[in-house]
Amino acid sequence: MAPEEADVKGFPFVVALLLTAGPAAAQPRALRIQIANDARISPDFIKDAQVQISRIYAATGIELEFVDGQSDLKITVLSRDGAEKMHHAGDLMGFAPHGDTDRARIAYVLWDRVSQVADGYSAPIAVVLAAAIAHELGHLLLVDGHSAIGVMRPALRQVDLQSARRGRLLFTDRQGAEMRERLFTQASAAPTSDDDPTGNNEGTR
Ligand SMILES: [Zn+2]
Repeated sequence: MAPEEADVKGFPFVVALLLTAGPAAAQPRALRIQIANDARISPDFIKDAQVQISRIYAATGIELEFVDGQSDLKITVLSRDGAEKMHHAGDLMGFAPHGDTDRARIAYVLWDRVSQVADGYSAPIAVVLAAAIAHELGHLLLVDGHSAIGVMRPALRQVDLQSARRGRLLFTDRQGAEMRERLFTQASAAPTSDDDPTGNNEGTR
């Protein structure tokens, strides 16, 4: 069905990757994000957006690392043609396809819409692009993505983009806690030799 189907993994795949960093007690490594520039926009827009996306996630305690190769999560910036081929249904500026139980690891941002919103609100395009990418990444990390405030609002208003310019369009505390729990808590809950989480310690003493 979807051309990227082979790339789509369930959320445990991401957790498994994060666990490869080292011992369970070690500080979790950065979440690796690839941004594929299918729309062939200026790389400067993407570089500027990356700085802002990193700040948005750092505010909730999640470190991002932008990579060109293998990543934990991927955002593809689509041209208008690319978006039309996808027959997408989703947010104004992007979409994150996923199954009922699986979380996908690829989401899409629509460059056409990003530039329209930036024009319409006279906002810097990198600010809008960053908000759109941070939002779609949020869908890959949250079960119930949207909220009435913050970067996970279903549609961003002018006032939201003004907040974004001041670095204040962020995840809610609850969303931050949910993402950190998904990414990190399962690592520290991994079984260790002296703590049997199954409770099956019969005969061990
Ligand atoms: Zn959304």
